[in-house]
Amino acid sequence: MDVLAFGVQADEKPLIEKAFAGLHDVRCVEVFLSPDTAPIAAGYETISTSVNANLSGPVLQTLAVGGTNMIAQRSTGFNNIDLEVAERLGLTIARVSFYSPYSVAEFAWALAMAVNRRIVRASARTRDFDFRLDGLMGRDLHGRTVGVIGTGKIGEAFTRIAHGLGMNLLGWDITENPACVELGMRYVDKDELLASADLVSLHVPLLPATHHLIGRDALRAMKDDAILINSSRGGLIDTEALVGELRKGRFTGVGLDVYEAEAGLFFLDKSLEPVEDDTLARLVTFPQVLVTSHQAYYTEDAVGQIVAATVQNVNDYAAGRRTGNFLVPKAG
Ligand code: NAD
Repeated sequence: MDVLAFGVQADEKPLIEKAFAGLHDVRCVEVFLSPDTAPIAAGYETISTSVNANLSGPVLQTLAVGGTNMIAQRSTGFNNIDLEVAERLGLTIARVSFYSPYSVAEFAWALAMAVNRRIVRASARTRDFDFRLDGLMGRDLHGRTVGVIGTGKIGEAFTRIAHGLGMNLLGWDITENPACVELGMRYVDKDELLASADLVSLHVPLLPATHHLIGRDALRAMKDDAILINSSRGGLIDTEALVGELRKGRFTGVGLDVYEAEAGLFFLDKSLEPVEDDTLARLVTFPQVLVTSHQAYYTEDAVGQIVAATVQNVNDYAAGRRTGNFLVPKAG
């Protein structure tokens, strides 16, 4: 089967080509799937898409008209896909339901450590041969309180590291994770978590129920000197409201691997273009804010697992098999 893979980064290309070799003919393109690029898929029964692909109704319609029938999404999150339209058009959509949760959990901690200990500022200073410590003071995390919002696979891996650091563990989720309880996590309501935590880390999926979960009220409920980490999905935070609170001098550190308007920016080199996103431009000016471009999953291990699962999804589709990775058509 011929497969067109959209949004393939240079590091990923050899992994994808190797995994598909001898099974399916894969063509990798760097461009992301969008209304402008969807026509490239014409004639490909199967395509594979990256996390920031635009799989809205109109794009799905274009793909279906061009003969695409199967979409293998290379991520766990699928908030970018209009599943109702896909079902109506008779498309098959699979995602990767599991890969290393350690990739994202460890990266969330990298952000937390970096903002707490001012690593980026310190590195910029030493490159400039400025060896002063003023403004670089952080805090011990041992003995402080972490609030984990979403204690699924990634939240649990994040919690294990917090446990290792000797932190007090608070959790909020619609279901309790026994492994987290065993580590000493106390499940509390969201308001108590936000009011008590020195560090809040987000690990819930983006759903209508979680959109702007961290809005103005939630931000105001947090401690003034808290650290906020988001390595899940940008839409969990109302970014305008966050900028408003940062302008008041609140929060010791904010680490964001995701941003609600990241599509069309993240994964691309925009360095020579005029900055059009005023919110992001303002956000990155705050000295305590660290923004990365959706790279938490980007380890050799996780990407290898994502690619292997994507090949398996294409094989299953070709053989008429359905597994738990298939989102549409719905089982039954
Ligand atoms: P998971 O399904 O194992 O865990 C999600 C948890 O959120 C579950 O415990 C679930 O009960 C909870 N939850 C769901 N809806 C909720 C709600 N309305 N209120 C409160 N809790 C709710 O998922 P995971 O593998 O841990 O991944 C979590 C998220 O991390 C993904 O949805 C994705 O958005 C994000 N992610 C980001 C990256 C990255 O590179 N930055 C990579 C992978 C995943």
